[in-house]
Formats: sequence, structure tokens, C-alpha cells
Amino acid sequence: MPPNPLSARRTQEPDPTAPDSACAAYGPAALTAPCGLLRLDAAGRIESANATLCDWIGRPAAEVIGRLDLAGLLSPAGRLFWTTHLVPQLRLNGRLDEVSLSLPDREGGLRRCLVSARQTEAGGSALALFEAERRHVFEEDQAREVALAQTRAHWLAQIERMAEVGAWSWDPAQDRLQGSDRMFDILGLRPGPADGLDTLLDRLISEPLRGQLRTCLATPETLRQPLDLEAGIRTPDGALRQIRLFCEPLWARGRVERVQGVVCDITRAQEDRQRLWRMAHLDDLTGLANRHYFRSHLRAACAGAEPLALVLIDIEDFGAVNHRFGADRADAMLQEIGGRLAGLLPEGGFAARLVGDEFALLLPATDPDAAARGLGAAVAAALDVPLAVSGGAVRLRAAMGLAAFPEDGRAPEALFARAKEALSEVKRAGGGVDFLRGAMLARVGARRRAIACVRDAVQEDRIRVWYQPKLRLADGAPDGHEALVRIFDRAGQVSGPADWAEALEDPECATLLDAAVLRRVLADLRRPGSGCGAGPGQGQGPGLGSGHGLGRVAVNVSEHSLRRVDFAAYLLRALARAGVSPAQIELEIVETVLVDQRTPELVAGFARLRAAGVRIMLDDFGTGFASLSHLRDLPIDGLKIEKSFVLGLQADPRNAPILRAIVMLAQALGLRTVAEGVESAEVADLLRGLGFETAQGYHFGRPQPLREPLPDPVAEGGAAPLRQGVSD
Ligand code: C2E
Ligand code: MG
Ligand code: MG
Repeated sequence: MPPNPLSARRTQEPDPTAPDSACAAYGPAALTAPCGLLRLDAAGRIESANATLCDWIGRPAAEVIGRLDLAGLLSPAGRLFWTTHLVPQLRLNGRLDEVSLSLPDREGGLRRCLVSARQTEAGGSALALFEAERRHVFEEDQAREVALAQTRAHWLAQIERMAEVGAWSWDPAQDRLQGSDRMFDILGLRPGPADGLDTLLDRLISEPLRGQLRTCLATPETLRQPLDLEAGIRTPDGALRQIRLFCEPLWARGRVERVQGVVCDITRAQEDRQRLWRMAHLDDLTGLANRHYFRSHLRAACAGAEPLALVLIDIEDFGAVNHRFGADRADAMLQEIGGRLAGLLPEGGFAARLVGDEFALLLPATDPDAAARGLGAAVAAALDVPLAVSGGAVRLRAAMGLAAFPEDGRAPEALFARAKEALSEVKRAGGGVDFLRGAMLARVGARRRAIACVRDAVQEDRIRVWYQPKLRLADGAPDGHEALVRIFDRAGQVSGPADWAEALEDPECATLLDAAVLRRVLADLRRPGSGCGAGPGQGQGPGLGSGHGLGRVAVNVSEHSLRRVDFAAYLLRALARAGVSPAQIELEIVETVLVDQRTPELVAGFARLRAAGVRIMLDDFGTGFASLSHLRDLPIDGLKIEKSFVLGLQADPRNAPILRAIVMLAQALGLRTVAEGVESAEVADLLRGLGFETAQGYHFGRPQPLREPLPDPVAEGGAAPLRQGVSD
């Protein structure tokens, strides 16, 4: 904006003795001001003129100041207008406001000006001449600035609305609160003349915070840092909101003149924050902590010195519950369980659902052993109460693994792993609750060693297969062999499954082992004289070197192998690749496969294998859980009786009737019968008398290796390793 020459005049009188610099009386800016400035004495002579005016008329200041009067500058018409009309008006009113007057310019043309004038105290006058066209530009500029200011105000209001922010200012001396519309909106108020600090503070929910803030603002001089706090407010219509309040004192003349700040409605942001937090940390089904939150909480807890009790809980048979009641009601049961578990924890306890039906409780306790056991007992009791959502039909049991910090592990991962292993052991033992200590710890150590032993042997190709002959009892003719796995250690010592039985329980390990054995067996069956393609019962014992006839080979397959792949496809493909007839293979499967995994896929797989010529025998029959309906319905070829019945045949007279009954049952169902563990001719005679078809045992021959070095199974196109997800 140009300086206002008329107001400048009041503060600084021009020096009449220095006409050339007289325009400086308007201040330095007047020289370059975009308007002409003139002072006339009482006689109308020009006392001073600024550079702009001199430039307009094209004369130096020296020719103008003190030499001319304004009328002398004007055109005849302008002069007349000035002298007859404007001068009397100026004298009469003491002022002229923006009258139009044309000034000749240096090019001989006329410059239309808007003249404003004031009479001076000395009887002269001070004039400001604006170019009419420039004035127009000024007006446009001004209008633009006004529009911009309005736009800015509008933007500010929009920003306030969008950001949920309102601005406020408080005058402590007057206790006057001023605020933007948005600020009053946020507080749920209408602005009123009597708004003071209380208007703001009355909305706060927390009394301590209100008091604190009041004290703080009562002595704003003590506010060294801007105040920034979050608080809950209640609007007059009862709505709860969360606000963030920021303010700082503004100092003037050594005192706090105003406290100025903003208030931000963070209700939605906080709700979003909370929702995100819940999504990231809580299990959406039970509302308990999720696995991730549990882990971070455990980490934080283990960083402290306070002892902790950790209980991992696995609901027994929840799969069956799910199956029986359907997913929705099972979910409702998990919710109820979660609620019960959380209800067991005193202050400071932490409950989480880790996955599915697995929960964890963590509790700081001075005696963590006792606390963990106490919690374990409480969990068992809580689950023993029938679940309401099941209509009282379901009482649950849980297996629980316990661990105490720091005794069972200082690092959170180690502590958790310990409880997890304790849980696995407890589950393996059929349920209960325990720490992984003492005998249980020794068992786990043995299992780890067994697993390592088998894994290393598979990796280093130290797996071998020994063969034990089977004979037909009726005529003593060979009836194939059973393949039995052996491991040679690095020193060449041989060991059998009894030495690493735990490894066969490990799904991964058992699967690896079975695949290695199958590769060996298929390779052996392809060797000349093995009887490949000749049909069962055509060869002699395996220890005879080349020319031996293995006949049909019975291969033990763990339930883990059967479950983890499309086993039928895998086996048939391996047989085809090796060029071995399916009629050369018999599978020995254990009863638990049938009881636990009587899935249609498995049954269909067995049927497919049988149709191809593979025989399926139920191994160790008699001690497991196979029911008679399994024998009736499942696609199997025969029963291999658990050897303890045979080994105890002579010592315990109760074995014979059991064996007789089994043979009769098998015959009635068209199933073959094999007795293993035959150690003497007497037992063989007894079994023959009982009606058994086939026998196997030390009496006929021990498991033996093939004499010749075995060919490389991979090079021979043997079976690929069993892997999860392998399908044909
Ligand atoms: P199984 O399938 O019941 O095998 C018979 C076991 O009885 C073999 O023990 C065999 O050596 C032993 N045996 C044979 N005749 C007699 C006898 O007259 N008296 C006595 N006391 N024992 C006899 P082994 O080789 O130690 O195998 C033990 C178990 O390991 C097998 O029981 C089978 O369940 C498992 N197994 C063996 N090889 C494999 C395999 O390749 N894969 C899988 N998954 N398991 C295998
Ligand atoms: Mg067997
Ligand atoms: Mg057996």
C-alpha cells in the first residue's frame, strides 16, 4: 500500500527553507510514492513537490518549487475549474476528496488525476494526486487483497473444520476468552459475551486436570514451555469428546498479555488409534491379547527382575467339539473359555489366545512355581464347569505346560519354548499339567538326540534296510520279507528303531526315514535275482548274496507319512519310476492311522493302492484301538498280530484263545493272518494249529542285510523323498 501522505504530514512538517528537499517532509517513501504530492502556501504557490509530480509534468523541482502555483500548471479549463470551483470548496470544507483534475504531462498530453487535499494550519494546502488509471489498479489490488483475505479466512475455517481444530485466545487481565467458531463447536458451545476461562475449563471431565490447568493459567508467567495436553470433555448435550489443547503465553510490556492456543477434537483420531491398536494387539474372537502382543508383553516382563509364572493351555479334543457343534458355536465356546481364563487372573496378570484353542497366562509372582501350579489347577477347575454355549453339554479338559521365570529360562524365547515343550510332553503323555523338569526334561533330551541321529543318518546316507523272511506255515514256503530300517553310525556300528524310537514319533523325521527306506527297498527290488516281477514267495533268504529272492517286501509306513502326502499317488509314482511292480510291495500300517485319520482321502488311497496290486496289512494288531467296524469297512488285506501275543503264547495260556478268535475273525472277513515274533518250532506248530497262514520270527531268520553293496537309489531312479504337499 502507498504511504498515506496526508497522515504523514501531521507527524513531520516540511522544511520551507529547503524547497528542493521539501517532498522529504512526507518521509523518504514519498519521493518514490506512486502519487504526486504537493504543498501550496496560502497564496497557492507550490511550496514542495515530490519527484513523481515533477516527473509527471516534466520539469525539475527547482523550476516548480517556489516559482509556480498549481493553477499555472493546469490547462485553461483545469485552471478555471481549480480556481472557481475547487479552491472555494477547499476553503469551505477544509478538504477535497478525490476530485478529478487533469494535469498536462511531459508529452503534451493530459494526465487525469484524482486529487485529495487538506488545508494546512498555515492556511496553505497539502495535495495528493493519484493517477486515475493507477487508482483503478490500486482498487483492483485492494479488492484482490480483500478477496484473498476472505479466501484465507475461508480456508482457515475449512482447515479448522477438517482438522477439527479451533483457535482461541484468553486475556488474563479481563478473563476474556475469544475463539474461532470451530473452537466453540468443539466445546459444544455458542460464543457469548461472558466467555471466560471457565467456559473452557467447565467442559473438562477430569477434576484434577481442570484444577491443574486453572492453576497453570492463573499464573501464565510461570509457563516456560507451551502447554500441550490431552483431555476428555463433556459437551452440554452430554457427548464425550477427547481434545488436545495447546497454548502458550504471549508477552507484551513485561507481562503476559494473552494466552493463545488451539484446541483440537481428537475423538475420531483417538478412536481410530484405539481401533488400530486393538486390531494389532487383540484377538478379535476373545478380546484377549493376541500372539504378537503376548510375545511383546513377555519380552517386556522378562526384561524386569520380577519372577513370572507362565501357563500354556491347549484345550483337549477341541477339534471334535468344532466338528460336533459347528464353527460358530465352537467360536462362542472359545469366547467363553477366554472370559473364564481372564477371570482367573489377579491384577497384573496377562491372558492371551495364541492360536486356535491355545491360550497363555502370564502372572508376576514371588513364588512362580506355586503360582503356575495354582493357575493350572484353577484353569482345570474352570474348564470343568460345563460351557453355557453348549447348553451344558460340554466339559473341557486342557493340557498345560508350565514355566517359571527365571528358573526355566531367562530369555523370553527360551522361557516360552520351555513351556511349549512342557505342553507337548504333557499332551504326549495324555494330558495334565507340568513343568519341563526332571524325568520329562530327560525324555525331551533323548527325543532330540534320537531325531538328530535319524536326520543326520538320512542326510549322510547312512540308512540301510535289513530284511527278515516270512514263511507260509502250512508248507514252509517263503512268503516274502519285511524291510526293517537300520542306521549305521559314523563308526560303522548298527542300530535299530529301539535305539531311536522317539524319532519315529516326530512327523518330519518319520517321513524322511520312510522315504529313505522306500528308496532302498525299490533299489533292492530292481537288482537281479531279487524276484522283481516274479511274484511273491519265489526267492530264498536275503543273506544269500546275488540271486536272492526278496519276494513281496513288507514296508512299514508311519502314520505321519500316510497323512502328510497324497501317499497313494506318491508310492505308485515311485514304483513306476523304479520299474517295480506294485505286487512286490506290502504296506504295514498301524492301527492308529485308521482310528484317528479315517479320512475319505486315506481310505480312497488305500483302495487305489490295492487296486494296483499293493497289499495293505494292519501291523501290531491286537494292542491298538482298531474296532471291528474298521476291519469290516476298511480296504485292508490282512492282520499282522502284535508279537507280544506270540512271544507270550507258551507262558500265558490266555493268549491262545485270543489268537484263535482273531484268526477266526480274520478268516470270516477274508483277511490274511501273519504272526510275528516266532522264536521256536513249538510256537510255530501252535500257530499253525491255530490257523495262522504266515509266520515271521527269529526261528525262521533274523533281519539281515543284503550282502552286496546297494546301488545308488537316485541314480537308479528310486523314490523321491517324501515331502509335505507332494502329490501326483
Ligand atoms: P514291526 O513292524 O512290528 O517289526 C517287527 C519287529 O520285531 C522288528 O524289530 C523285528 O526285528 C522284531 N522281531 C522280528 N522277529 C522277532 C522275534 O522273533 N522276536 C523278537 N523279540 N523280535 C522280533 P525292529 O526292526 O527293531 O523294528 C521295530 C519297529 O520299528 C517295527 O516293528 C516297526 O514298527 C518300526 N520300523 C522298522 N522299520 C521301519 C521303517 O522302515 N519305517 C517305519 N516307519 N517304522 C519301522
Ligand atoms: Mg512291521
Ligand atoms: Mg509288528
